[in-house]
Amino acid sequence: MLNIVLFGPPGAGKGTQSERLKEKYDLAHISTGDVFRGLDPTSELAKLASSYSAKGNLVPDAITIQILEGEVSKHPNALGVIYDGFPRTTAQAEALDKFLASKGTEVTRMISLVVPEDELKTRLIARAEVSGRADDADPAIIQNRINTYQQSTAPVADFYKEQGKLIEIDGVGSIDEITARIFGAIDSIK
Ligand code: AMP
Repeated sequence: MLNIVLFGPPGAGKGTQSERLKEKYDLAHISTGDVFRGLDPTSELAKLASSYSAKGNLVPDAITIQILEGEVSKHPNALGVIYDGFPRTTAQAEALDKFLASKGTEVTRMISLVVPEDELKTRLIARAEVSGRADDADPAIIQNRINTYQQSTAPVADFYKEQGKLIEIDGVGSIDEITARIFGAIDSIK
């Protein structure tokens, strides 16, 4: 299986690049952010999740890990999975390793998109126009998401680096250029 963790701060291009990876390598694509946004808004789970996400905070690990495992189980015959926006804490990364090991597989590589903070802010504000996402439109929430990334999520890259699985990709350039860099990195794995 090709299990790719597509990693990077908010606005790095994970969703856009996931769509291309999914097509090219015939993978399942799991975005925990999309899953949270897709919950029935009247459900208790949706209300709980949005009490965190609306402020730009992380949804607690226990809930997120359970959601993720449920999503993976929906793709029993997948050739592999792109994990987009998960894991975002070291506890989530440990849970993913354990979960995949129980299925006889593992994370193949983490691909980390590297984008400077100023560029992220510009991209998120522009994305708000089309995404309609309230968490993209408010500069204070954007800043909180970036700070949360730096404090809680960036250490996850070290977790995979220690396993020799981290690939860093320059995430600045045209969408096609970045796709080509990612495809090049994946094609050189085997
Ligand atoms: P995203 O679409 O990846 O930017 O995620 C939107 C929001 O969903 C985040 O700001 C978090 O509140 C929540 N979220 C998504 N993925 C996770 C995760 N792996 N852990 C905790 N919260 C998450």
